[in-house]
Amino acid sequence: MQKRFTQASITTDELAALQLAGLKWTVHHAYTGSDFYRKQFDEAGVKPEDIKSLEDLKRLPFTTSQDLQGNYPYPLISVPFEDVVRLHASSGTTGKRKVMVYTAKDIDDWADMFARCYETAGLSREDRVQICVGYGVWTAGVGFQLGCERFGAFAIPAGPGNIDMQLQFLVDFQTTVICSTASMALLLAEEVQSRGLRDQINVKKVIFGAERSSDALRQKVKTLLGAEHIFDIPGLTEIYGPGTGLDCVHHTGIHYWSDYYILEILDPETLEPVKEGEVGEMVYTTLKKEGAPMIRYRSRDLTRLIPGDCPCGSPFPRHDKIVGRSDDMFIVRGVNIYPSHIDEILSRQQGIGSEFQIHLDRLDDGKDYMTIKVEREEGGDPASDRNLATGIERTVRKEALVSGQVEIVDYQSLPRTERKSKRVFDNRN
Ligand code: ZN
Repeated sequence: MQKRFTQASITTDELAALQLAGLKWTVHHAYTGSDFYRKQFDEAGVKPEDIKSLEDLKRLPFTTSQDLQGNYPYPLISVPFEDVVRLHASSGTTGKRKVMVYTAKDIDDWADMFARCYETAGLSREDRVQICVGYGVWTAGVGFQLGCERFGAFAIPAGPGNIDMQLQFLVDFQTTVICSTASMALLLAEEVQSRGLRDQINVKKVIFGAERSSDALRQKVKTLLGAEHIFDIPGLTEIYGPGTGLDCVHHTGIHYWSDYYILEILDPETLEPVKEGEVGEMVYTTLKKEGAPMIRYRSRDLTRLIPGDCPCGSPFPRHDKIVGRSDDMFIVRGVNIYPSHIDEILSRQQGIGSEFQIHLDRLDDGKDYMTIKVEREEGGDPASDRNLATGIERTVRKEALVSGQVEIVDYQSLPRTERKSKRVFDNRN
């Protein structure tokens, strides 16, 4: 099948040329169209004509979520209102909602990006896509819908919830692709199992949006539905919405659409690039967005870039799953550590429970020491603690790039609270 949206033949040099042209255009557009950006650039002493190479990106000031909320309700608007055709807003869990405006071209670009996601997941126009995410002012439902129709597959706009109806649709319409949150997919899969519907459905692929999911959950959904693949689709309202990338059928990381935005992975403390393959904060600069362009937007989401080429041959670079948020970072022996990253590492280990604590101490030698206390799994054998701890220490050293001592404690010996438990105990001062 010919790939309409993927531009599979584009080269790295051509991508870089597109990025430079897009960066120059974006900076000029934002400077002339937005009071906010003009003020920011003037304060930083940088003019659009100073952007001559991709290296010059680092001369530009950052944009933060406080900037968006401080300029509510129309932050970053860079076009006259007559050119705006739609708005979307984030759900607004912290402070005010983030509101983004879109021009007709922005909507069109988003549809193309999202269509590329379906293409990357190996869908064809024969596929029937049951979209079980929320429709409304947020970007989820309409994004999945738009991309599906642009791609040319058959969209079933089911929305979230209503399990009986969802199951009926799976059977009656012979849905081949489910798009939902991970928890919704699990619920559906368990109901398919308990009602014995597995032989009556035809689900081949599941696309997860929005939530992080464990490997165990993914495997369970795959098995219960009899699906061949599960994909992760990232996205944020600030950068159009869902559809900024997708893992391909090799599942070696998320290919991201570097012809639509530049992704920098920066150390959240120094705001300098991290070393290749290290975890850092995702900072976005859009290359085509008209309504509300994003320039060096600090998303606070953490991931790492994946070096090398994917077996699929896609020219688009890859980032890993999002491992957490930069807000809760701490530093041990000069290495940035994120509790969410430790959590993610622990969630992949066998033999332990989900509760853990991180203790930080400075000993007489002046050095910092990290101890990770983890609960043994329910019914686990204390005789295996030593082996278990050594294995986890090795993985933490390899993936978080810092040594720590792992202490296995009894099941249910760490405190559980209603609210999110306190994980980090810093005793160094
Ligand atoms: Zn690939």
